[in-house]
Amino acid sequence: MKLSNSYIGLPEEFYQLIKPSPVKNPSLIAFNEDLAISLGLDAENSSLLEYFSGNKVPRGSTPIALNYAGHQFGNFVHQLGDGRAILLGEVSTNSGSYDLQLKGSGQTMFSRQGDGRSALGPVIREYILSEAMHHLGIPTSRALAAVATGEYVARDSFEPGGILTRVAKSHLRVGTFEYFASRQQWEDVKLLADFAIQRHFPEIRESDNHYLELLKKVADKQSELVSKWMSVGFIHGVMNTDNFTISGETIDYGPCAFLDEYDPGKVFSSIDQNGRYAFGNQPSIASWNLASLAGCLIAFINKDSDKANELATEVLDNFSVDTNQRILDQMCRKIGINGSKEENHTLLRNFLKIMLKNQSDYTITFRALPQVLLGDSDDLFDQFKERAELHSWLEDWQQTVRAENEDVNLLVNDLNEINPAYIPRNHQIQDVIDLAYENNFSKMLEMIEVVQDPFKEKDKYSSYMNAPTEDQKVKRTFCGT
Ligand code: AMP
Ligand code: MG
Repeated sequence: MKLSNSYIGLPEEFYQLIKPSPVKNPSLIAFNEDLAISLGLDAENSSLLEYFSGNKVPRGSTPIALNYAGHQFGNFVHQLGDGRAILLGEVSTNSGSYDLQLKGSGQTMFSRQGDGRSALGPVIREYILSEAMHHLGIPTSRALAAVATGEYVARDSFEPGGILTRVAKSHLRVGTFEYFASRQQWEDVKLLADFAIQRHFPEIRESDNHYLELLKKVADKQSELVSKWMSVGFIHGVMNTDNFTISGETIDYGPCAFLDEYDPGKVFSSIDQNGRYAFGNQPSIASWNLASLAGCLIAFINKDSDKANELATEVLDNFSVDTNQRILDQMCRKIGINGSKEENHTLLRNFLKIMLKNQSDYTITFRALPQVLLGDSDDLFDQFKERAELHSWLEDWQQTVRAENEDVNLLVNDLNEINPAYIPRNHQIQDVIDLAYENNFSKMLEMIEVVQDPFKEKDKYSSYMNAPTEDQKVKRTFCGT
């Protein structure tokens, strides 16, 4: 495993040089061999466990903790940073370079009161959720390895410790920009922007106004990301600006969760008391976060502040319009109708309205819809208590769908490739973690396999398609790391 580290070319204040703290008795509980191979890593290397536990530093690695600030629930916190994560370095591949970061690898200068460690439960959660997201086609950091440290961490009770090795296009956040902008260190903001452009958007280097272009690029990536979250019912849960990437990848899986029943107001996170990060609020929060980034870059967008404001506002306005359109497109595709027709939006909204009224399961409902075209409505009707409205909606829908699509079988296949059969449901993840805490990792490995192929139904995994019963329902999720 050969690593480099471009971040250390930046001034000292951007990071702390810090090695992972060793752990006593590590064991590798999950390893993502396909990802390792795609990164060109030697999966047979006997040192892997030592690297992923932080007990040995790979060749070429200069481990660092990154410095950043951020808005948490709308309030600015001027000092955050990697308090329990250490960046080992970057791997170069044909598709660009990727950060390799340990999470739960010991204290850094940014740990504040924290122990720099992670419990095993959240490591397993992040592993499963991020793998699921990747295989659903959603940009995300990925899990390369999960290690049980053999040590205990003190949370509400003592829990086994874990370390996740994750891979991302970078760990640059809006909060990284905010750190320097809030201190009016404009030269550093510029260095960071140039670094981000070089790393993620080299194609804009030659543009006339590349800081405005940077804002546009991040807006575009985030618009794509959030619209994809909405289409699969993913709630990030802590869209603070320090968890909002420049690369447009989903990152920092904390109290995130997938919807069971459809509800735009749904909140799982125990700390999101006002529902700021509710499912349906995610597009507008993304816009809020982009406005924070715009604030950091504004001085470089134009010397005339009115003009700079006008240009940045245009980017934010376009973001909202683009994101709404993308969401409509994705949602219309989920029900097999053309998203560019106004009347089809009404058809979509009517469906969502009756789903909300009936508290129907988001994933099961969309998955069951194409079966109706093949003459089997049972699974769909199971999701609705009041059936009259659904009947009349289905008539309209079938008429539209059949008029727009000549080949119904082809459409059914398309719909089964956009509406997943399997999502990582909270209650299932909780079962996996409970077993893992008894040293049984078989269910974890099985669930990883299930989420890695989410669109193809398999008899042996049919139980993973079930919505939770009332007793099984997880009502709250916790940061808990
Ligand atoms: P998060 O809400 O998970 O994005 O984390 C917010 C901040 O808290 C980041 O600066 C983390 O590095 C820090 N943090 C969270 N948990 C710990 C921990 N156990 N030890 C040290 N720092 C932590
Ligand atoms: Mg974070």
